[in-house]
Amino acid sequence: MRSVDDHLADILRTVRVLAPLELDLELALGTVLAEEITSPVALPPFDNSAMDGYAVRAQDVSRVPVTLPVIGDIAAGGDGGLTVGPGTVTRIMTGAPMPEGADTVIPVEWTDGGTDQVTINRSAPEGNAIRRAGEDVLPGEIVLPAGTLIGPAQLGVLAGVGRRRVLARPRPRVVVISTGAELAEPGTPLAPGQIWESNSYTLVAAVREAGSEGYRAGVVADDARLFLDQLDAQLLRADVVITSGGVSMGAYEPVKEALAPLGTVRFDRVAMQPGMPQGFGVVGEDQIPIFALPGNPVSSFVSFMLFVRPALLKMRGLHAGPTPTVRAVTTSPLRSPAGRRSYLRAVLADDGSVAPVRGQGSHQLAALASANALIVVPEDVTELPGGATVEVIRL
Ligand code: AMP
Ligand code: MG
Repeated sequence: MRSVDDHLADILRTVRVLAPLELDLELALGTVLAEEITSPVALPPFDNSAMDGYAVRAQDVSRVPVTLPVIGDIAAGGDGGLTVGPGTVTRIMTGAPMPEGADTVIPVEWTDGGTDQVTINRSAPEGNAIRRAGEDVLPGEIVLPAGTLIGPAQLGVLAGVGRRRVLARPRPRVVVISTGAELAEPGTPLAPGQIWESNSYTLVAAVREAGSEGYRAGVVADDARLFLDQLDAQLLRADVVITSGGVSMGAYEPVKEALAPLGTVRFDRVAMQPGMPQGFGVVGEDQIPIFALPGNPVSSFVSFMLFVRPALLKMRGLHAGPTPTVRAVTTSPLRSPAGRRSYLRAVLADDGSVAPVRGQGSHQLAALASANALIVVPEDVTELPGGATVEVIRL
């Protein structure tokens, strides 16, 4: 058996960072910048009002109350053609350019709101409520370095500096193929001996949560030929393939039968529970990474968290390593098999305590769904008392 760490190291050595593409801004969420972004202009590009109010000369409102004539309105989007001379004001709206001559904005709340003339009840220091050109970004300044993960705020600054397209590493396209003659599509009736197929739903969702594109390629019966045909068809649109099932020691293991002879995918027994049988390698002309995960629902999901997720992070150009853990304290004694690292389904509470859920079988979907964490028990630990400090993976 090989260790979890060796298996992951092999995977991270094999997978490559995806090449960058020119992406439209609308498709850039969750991608990673492959260029440095600078602003072609200052932001704000011009001095403008931070409030709805009146553009004034500070010296004209040093004694209040004072009533002054309003010579016009400046709305956001206006061209600022007005000039404020001594003893006059304009109305001005938030975001509108400051008129020539004015050096201060008086918020409408400090006035009677007049339109022909206005009575101002509070004075303000020069420069009040003005947003200065360049106070956010100077022309040519870097707003995002290469390697930045693009989230909502980063999309905003890209648009804000006028970019429509960016050079970014795309979200990996991940195809999930389930195998098993016993699998029926949810929403269709079960024949004798069948169960509803669930792994592809879990895995595609996990792929999406990991910032990648997930596609269900449906179910293939336990036939190596059919499996290879489906794999060939799917390779066209995949940066990664995940299969579930068909990698154990039984008969009718189509994934293993189909891939083992290629010589580019190795099948190992990894010292973990759940999820001992694992296949990983590359397939096709483009050497697409393939994860052949075990079929038991809990096993395939835990395998995803430990092996596929870090690989997807690396492909996106992000920091990739072992799945992060936090410390927690067990509420009850635990048992774990010798020589295998186990991942017990558990509920992690806000107070830092962690309780294993009832039902630790690798087929127990409902128990998995009631958990929010995995307690990691090292290979050489077979028993832990309640109150022990453990490492926990958040789900
Ligand atoms: P296998 O790895 O193909 O031997 O499958 C192990 C166990 O997981 C069997 O009990 C299967 O019925 C079950 N299983 C395999 N694939 C799926 C799937 N896609 N959805 C739900 N259960 C599955
Ligand atoms: Mg099977």
